[in-house]
Amino acid sequence: MKKKSGVISNMSANTMDTCTNLIRNAKKIVVLTGAGISTESGIKDFRSKTGIYSLAPEYILSLDYFYQHPKEFYQFAIENLYHPEAVPNKGHEILAKWEQEGKVATIITQNIDGLHQRAGSKNVIEFHGTMKTATCLNCGKNYSTDEMLSRMETMEDFYICNNCIANNKLEQYIKPDVVLFGDTGTWFSMAGIQTILRYMQEADFVLVLGTSLLVAPFSTFPQYRRQGVPLIIINKGETPYDFGQDTYVIHESIGKTMEEINNQLHP
Ligand SMILES: [Zn+2]
Repeated sequence: MKKKSGVISNMSANTMDTCTNLIRNAKKIVVLTGAGISTESGIKDFRSKTGIYSLAPEYILSLDYFYQHPKEFYQFAIENLYHPEAVPNKGHEILAKWEQEGKVATIITQNIDGLHQRAGSKNVIEFHGTMKTATCLNCGKNYSTDEMLSRMETMEDFYICNNCIANNKLEQYIKPDVVLFGDTGTWFSMAGIQTILRYMQEADFVLVLGTSLLVAPFSTFPQYRRQGVPLIIINKGETPYDFGQDTYVIHESIGKTMEEINNQLHP
């Protein structure tokens, strides 16, 4: 089979046209998003030079650290991972619009900021959970992060649930609903991954936005699309998929590129 791929660094009109036409005909787009779409809303990413991990080692976002230092954990998480002031950008908005138009089937995101939902997207899989809420590990009571913030201001043991009683206090900890290292989230389960792989196989188009596709299992998802299904990657950096079959790569801003494509779809 002839290899079809293109790497666009200056948004060559030709490849933009190809991408736009592919999107025009798509009816079941699965979108994979990473930190790069949120940085355009002013949210720090994790792995770049100025990212979260330049402030603290990865260990601070582990389940072990959470159990050992719940107060410090909360302080760090709320300071660095919680962004109630951030607003969705053009990229988020256009994805929500495409969902309404029946083009986008599902968004699978690594982001924990809830910006896709705030833009209006309905079918969103938060693969790494969300920073908007926290849950008691014993009774399952759900707390909003705003509620946790006010508990932090007024209570010494704010991270211990007072809706239930357990023999071991550790069981009563209220944990943010983000997936930590050493943690299992809803979508990290066998059933969760199987559901995602089914979506990948049903996709007639896969759009990757703002992720370098380096961390498994998320990075493996594009491999499960059917043969011949196009893959478009809009990301500032390179990805291991850049020279794959039926793959188009745009090294540009997500908002700007999405807007250009959307304007061509709706002249
Ligand atoms: Zn509880």
